[in-house]
Amino acid sequence: MIRVRFAPSPTGFFHIGSARTALFNWLYARHTGGTFVLRIEDTDRERNSEAFLNVIYDSLKWLGLNWDEGPGAGGDHGPYRQSERDPIYRDYIQKLLDAGRAYEKDGAIWFKLIGERHEIFDAHRKKTVVKVKTAPTEINDLIRGRVERVEDEDFVIVRSDGSPVFHLVNVIDDIAMKITHVIRGEDHLSNTSKHVELFKAFGAPVPHFAHIPLILKQNGPGKMSKRDQGALVEEYQRRGYIPHALVNFLSLLGWNPGGDREIMSVAEIIRLFDLPGVNQSNARFDEKKLAHMNMAYVLALAPDDFVTRAKAFFAKQNTFSQSAGAPDEAYLRDVLLLSQPKIKGIEDLPAYTAYFFTEDYAIDAKVREKTMSKGAPKTRLRELADVLKQPSVDFSTDLAIEEAIKKLAAAKGLGFGDYQAVARLAVSGTNIGPNLTGMFRVMGRDRVLARMERFLAA
Ligand code: GLU
Repeated sequence: MIRVRFAPSPTGFFHIGSARTALFNWLYARHTGGTFVLRIEDTDRERNSEAFLNVIYDSLKWLGLNWDEGPGAGGDHGPYRQSERDPIYRDYIQKLLDAGRAYEKDGAIWFKLIGERHEIFDAHRKKTVVKVKTAPTEINDLIRGRVERVEDEDFVIVRSDGSPVFHLVNVIDDIAMKITHVIRGEDHLSNTSKHVELFKAFGAPVPHFAHIPLILKQNGPGKMSKRDQGALVEEYQRRGYIPHALVNFLSLLGWNPGGDREIMSVAEIIRLFDLPGVNQSNARFDEKKLAHMNMAYVLALAPDDFVTRAKAFFAKQNTFSQSAGAPDEAYLRDVLLLSQPKIKGIEDLPAYTAYFFTEDYAIDAKVREKTMSKGAPKTRLRELADVLKQPSVDFSTDLAIEEAIKKLAAAKGLGFGDYQAVARLAVSGTNIGPNLTGMFRVMGRDRVLARMERFLAA
């Protein structure tokens, strides 16, 4: 039975790298029918807070990465917060002391390596250190392959203030929680030899390790950090990103699903995901690609789903609080669905649709100048308003409106385009927006005519 864990330290924000590590663990558990454990590594008390924990829980839930064991989910191997596991650590430390694999020195407890010892003066650290002659520690990493590293100095496992160090509690928990596969960022590869020696000293089976490649920052060399632009998961949540888009994007950061697959459902990702498909080479964060994926997901949303998400976003932004109040439900829905194919993301909607909901919309001065400088736009707009006024023009379909405009244009020996720009400027104040006849249909005859008349009078 495969058991994996995601073991975040709640030190602030939940960033793209953490989300990717969580995702790969979750995918591996779901792919293999194993168990996904959430363990909170909160031993560094000063840097941790409850608010930080909620950031982790919220982000995981938003991404749909449900955990089978852990805080809030229960399980047979708890507690799942390291800050609550001290008695367990004491037992394990005692085992090492009893077995002669740990000793006290200068108030701290040290892990004892096995091998011939001799003192040398380390010029770099300017002190005498005890070196231990050991065989190299071998790590058979499922992604990196065979890695060897020499541990040749005893190391502290409990600080003089009594707090156990990361390496120790990390290994104890992996043993106690019966973790079979440790999937984590490559920055931990250099710790792994210490971990392997600890597993062996406890007489516990060494889990499989899979160190996943780093995520490089968008521009320039180096690892992406939480200070980099676009690094925080909560930012995408706030901006109304579709969580599946982020999951899809993250899955491809260091994993190759084969072929040129890009947009995949979560079910498909679960089916295809496996550790041998994870690359050794680093992945580069590409915010444009993420935005593009999000756009594809927005476009593909079923109407009801799209409207629900859009309305939730408007509510969070308080979009309608200052204006005349909430718009008519059916009108709002029509406006949203008309805009769906044209926007890059949900976050664009408030600005993109603003003129639909107020008669006080701004007229873009540049667009006005350009539109009004050629031809006879006022005459065209007058003609158009007079045609649209006629009850025989059916305002319930885009096609009927389009035909009425085309008929008018033909009668004047002109084209649709001679009416389009000035009409759009009059009813929306700009030159971008959804398709013109769809806009007329959704706004309705009265609103369209009122706007045109006001524009002509100005
Ligand atoms: N708490 C460690 C981290 O956040 C986890 C290390 C591990 O996964 O073993 O990097």
